[in-house]
Amino acid sequence: MNAPISTQEASVSYTRGYALLPMPRHVALKDGTVQFGPAWHLRVTGVDAADISVRTLQEGIAAQAGFRLSSASGTAHEIVLSIQPGAVHIGYSDNRDSDAYALEITSHGITLTGNGASGLFYAVQTWLQLLQSDATRSGLLPIGCIVDWPDYEIRCIHWDTKHHHDRMETLRRHLDQAAGFKINAVLYELEDKFAYPSHPVIGAPGAWSTEELQSLVDYARERHIEIIPDIQAPAHMTYVLKHSEFSHLRCDGNNYQICMDDPAARKLIFELYDDLCAATRGSKYFHVSTDEVYYAGICERYRKPYNPENRSLAWVDYVNAAHEHLSVRDRRVIIWAEFPLLVEHVHLLPSGVINGIGPGRPEMLKATRERGIRNFLYTSMQGEELFFPDLFPYTTQDGSSKPGRLADAACSTAAGTATIPQCLGTIAASWDDAGVHNETFWLGWAVMAQGSWTPGAPLSETISRFMEIFHGSECVNMESIYRGLQSSARFIEYALERLPSVVRGPGYGNSRGKRASPRSDFGMITPVLPDATTFAAEPVFRPRYARILEAMPARMEDHVRVQSLLAENLKRARRNRQTLEIFDSIAALQRHMLEMMRDAALAEDRVVEAAACARQGVWDRAHDLIEQAIAQVRHIQTDREAVFERLQTVWERGRFPKGQSVGGKNFVHVMDDVKDHFADRTPDLRYLLAPELRIGLDSWADSLEEFLNILKKSRL
Ligand SMILES: [Zn+2]
Repeated sequence: MNAPISTQEASVSYTRGYALLPMPRHVALKDGTVQFGPAWHLRVTGVDAADISVRTLQEGIAAQAGFRLSSASGTAHEIVLSIQPGAVHIGYSDNRDSDAYALEITSHGITLTGNGASGLFYAVQTWLQLLQSDATRSGLLPIGCIVDWPDYEIRCIHWDTKHHHDRMETLRRHLDQAAGFKINAVLYELEDKFAYPSHPVIGAPGAWSTEELQSLVDYARERHIEIIPDIQAPAHMTYVLKHSEFSHLRCDGNNYQICMDDPAARKLIFELYDDLCAATRGSKYFHVSTDEVYYAGICERYRKPYNPENRSLAWVDYVNAAHEHLSVRDRRVIIWAEFPLLVEHVHLLPSGVINGIGPGRPEMLKATRERGIRNFLYTSMQGEELFFPDLFPYTTQDGSSKPGRLADAACSTAAGTATIPQCLGTIAASWDDAGVHNETFWLGWAVMAQGSWTPGAPLSETISRFMEIFHGSECVNMESIYRGLQSSARFIEYALERLPSVVRGPGYGNSRGKRASPRSDFGMITPVLPDATTFAAEPVFRPRYARILEAMPARMEDHVRVQSLLAENLKRARRNRQTLEIFDSIAALQRHMLEMMRDAALAEDRVVEAAACARQGVWDRAHDLIEQAIAQVRHIQTDREAVFERLQTVWERGRFPKGQSVGGKNFVHVMDDVKDHFADRTPDLRYLLAPELRIGLDSWADSLEEFLNILKKSRL
């Protein structure tokens, strides 16, 4: 049994002004403080002076207090860094043992001791959080000791790159932040963001070279983070199958899934595996994805008939082949064990694979346990929601209340070690399907980091500690910014209709099988255009969206408050300003969309009134009203472009232009035959504008210009 954290004990450390995240397992603070300052010295024993722990400590002190410690030994006022195996007894022999550390602050010295190198690194991270806390701004550290180790061995966050490509400096910053929260793995879903040497056509323009990816892997490893490469296969393979070179491998002709039994398909995928192994040297794990293979074996070229059993067996055979291929390359294979896998086929899987998507259904968990397959606890920080994730409690469109993703993460990690015996770790997935910006995931990742280290901490405290550590205590009301951005995102998302698509025809199939799947566009209907001869004009937009328009003033009021809080905090923030800038750009887009809905209704009011005037021969008034409506819509148009341009500028500071061309190589944009991701509708960032463009306000304004001419002719 793990010693459960005493939340009371930990809360005391927090309320005394020390924001630690994750909350340490044992905190014993005494009365009294010690003054830390430039007169202190640094001593390292059993640790290289160039070790990341030493550098992180020095850089952290320099950033927070403006000086560096000089080295000395045997003097008073020392910080002593050391690695002593067994210094902290935790009762496990796995990696959690080396992550364990002890931190002691007395009136004359500070000792940071790790069982292993990672433990010392985590001691430094905790100590830097203490130094950064409000209570220690002036260098007054609490006297006391902390003894700490994690509940979960692997604490993994997920980087999905389906529809964006972060710049290297962004990823390094994310790794530094992850290390600060004691996250020790990143599942890096690479898609076409790696320039596979064996098949150069697959890598998107600007994709990482082998050297670039390896440098990132090494940077992470130094910070005790393993980058676990993930290749999407045999489904979700449009990034490969869209290229004509591989069209013969499309299963049943669809670009979503490769013909997975085909030896040529296996050869291709395994060559991609080999390319990635060569660029992630030192990594122990490899994620082969295997999710959502809805149509395994559907072409019946390799096994007949197509039925649930053969579909499952095709999947099992694939996993066995992938496992065999990667095992000889010294990689432990992670899969998403899900449909079409049947429970009765679990015993056919290699016992060495690891399921990334536990606990799953009880019978699947039982079967994997019996087979000796270990599980990760899976949570997701983002699914398909637009603009901002559902982190906090929310009400769905059909009126049911949901706790939100943060509460889900806190609950599932608290229950995890009991629900999943021998749980290997946690994965906080954050999917890129809807193209939500990854800066919005940090709060969720931090909650998962907390739950993976010392589960059971009160969520409200975790959130406020995150705000202090990540955004800094200079920032005010940060939680209400997150909540406000989420509320506006859901308001807009729920206001939008799913209209029959004018962009895409039916899909090849969906999760329920091969079937014509009509697609829809997010959008709203176009406001009314008066009849050119009778001048009849019944409003359509306002009545249809009456409930939304009624709720608009309150939403707008809250949103304006969020925007001014953001402006205030942008002045105050000393760290992670880029996150606030991203939030600000999202808030501006949301504000634009709210105003767009409101003003489209107002413009329609004017058009309806103008038409009535025209019917009564009140030409001047009719003319003025139409001109006002046109001006209103033209303003929406101008505002949209300005907001978008600013958003694009801000987003591209941290990531490459979406769908960029590099060195004469152009991005090949072909949409998925099965999936219809919001962020994939355009090769560039303009997917964010797609719902608004679907309304057709611009051409409505053009039609109103024509109507003005009709009015002019009519009055003659
Ligand atoms: Zn096939």
